[in-house]
Amino acid sequence: MFSFKSIETYHQYLATHPDGCTIAVKYYLERIEENKHLNAYLEVFAEEALTRAAQLDSQRAAGKPIGKLHGVVISIKDVIAYKGHKVSASSRMLEGYTSLYNATAVERLLAEEAIIIGRNNCDEFAMGSTNENSAYGPTRNALDPDRVPGGSSGGSAVAVQADLCMLSLGSDTGGSVRQPADFCGIIGLKPTYGTISRYGLLAYASSFDQIGVFGKIIADLAMVLAVISGPDEYDSTALSNKQEINDLSILSSNTPPPRVAYFREAIEHPSLDPEIRYTLLQFIDTLQQDGAVVTEVPFDYLDFIVPAYYVLTTAEASSNLSRYDGVKFGHRGAAQPGDTLDAFYKKNRTEGFGKEVQRRILLGTFVLSAGHYDAYFTKAQQVRQLLVEKTTQVFQDFDALIMPTVPATAFRLGEKSDDPIALYLADIYTVFANLTGIPGISLPLFKHSNGMPFGLQVMTDRYQDPYLLQLSFNWLSRYQGVNLQG
Ligand code: GLN
Repeated sequence: MFSFKSIETYHQYLATHPDGCTIAVKYYLERIEENKHLNAYLEVFAEEALTRAAQLDSQRAAGKPIGKLHGVVISIKDVIAYKGHKVSASSRMLEGYTSLYNATAVERLLAEEAIIIGRNNCDEFAMGSTNENSAYGPTRNALDPDRVPGGSSGGSAVAVQADLCMLSLGSDTGGSVRQPADFCGIIGLKPTYGTISRYGLLAYASSFDQIGVFGKIIADLAMVLAVISGPDEYDSTALSNKQEINDLSILSSNTPPPRVAYFREAIEHPSLDPEIRYTLLQFIDTLQQDGAVVTEVPFDYLDFIVPAYYVLTTAEASSNLSRYDGVKFGHRGAAQPGDTLDAFYKKNRTEGFGKEVQRRILLGTFVLSAGHYDAYFTKAQQVRQLLVEKTTQVFQDFDALIMPTVPATAFRLGEKSDDPIALYLADIYTVFANLTGIPGISLPLFKHSNGMPFGLQVMTDRYQDPYLLQLSFNWLSRYQGVNLQG
């Protein structure tokens, strides 16, 4: 039976299996069918994926050299545009909308011969932490279907977790790749802001949004990142110099012992599950025994980062989502005779947007309103600036910063539905990287006594994504599957 371990071994398999891409696609289509109850996919491009696989198989047979992602079966979060395919941001607002162009990331995947197998469920407009804000029902965690997979890229995480594709693209504005990776026991990478073009990514908060990658092997993530990153004339915030993100499939572990920082306040935070805290402290001990320099660094701003994040992102969202008015884009309700233009917009937006999206648009409009702008928006920008300065300082002395990814393991479905504030507060460890633009990754290193996995979050300075991948590779090779809890 087909089984996927890494892109490298898959390509070796293809060398001896003339119809290997077709076998792979059929395998995933069957798995997706068998796991429909998880609701990880909003749409599967079955026929098209099979046709593409057959084309790739015959190109190989004809001796054509293969692309870097030849036949690699990838799914994409439903906020990433794929020409001629629906993209809905899991919202009624965009029901039936078909993309007219490819996101740059998609364009680059296809150019290297990846096969896009479908689009994944997510929280509406990427706003949420449980996938329960989708207009198309929640995605379920494959390890325990009564639990959420996390969000907002929950469908993408489960697609990788449950072996419904090889790799998946999500987006991370405040943790939406790292947090579901933590809940699902896989790797989730958010690169440095600007590493991957945002062209064709449906905007939530543009100065935070970044496409990220889910997978099970660092070398695979590195390969996908190498393919989709780089400058793009369609996104002026995309980094102008392509980082040296090489194929790290032959990663060496011969790097000098890392200098690692952690924030005392993060480990001591009352919201952190005691078992996660204990495990992290044990892990720190282990790192030290193995020669790493691990140092506690004071950080006074922890309680300001979630408020700053929610002020700034809702402000940006209220502006970004104004285009969905039923005229320029999105759902158009039936106008009644005598309706004013305002009534018409209101109807379209009330019918099209779910509760959480409406809440954030209202919050964003409020913090940007003339009377409150300075108290909220300006203040939050100042906090962001302080965080950037603090980050620069930390990375003058350290190679990496570690933190939990999430204060708890995967929530039960419905557990937090009535308490948006509790959910916002659970973003305490992930929003830091988006506020400061640094790269972050969640590594599946730990298991809780409740049976659920949880991750270690590792961050480095901006543009140090290759080092982040190297360190992640080293730590996963050394500590994955090792009982660090004693
Ligand atoms: N949980 C965060 C939020 O609800 C993260 C969202 C994201 O990264 N897209 O905003």
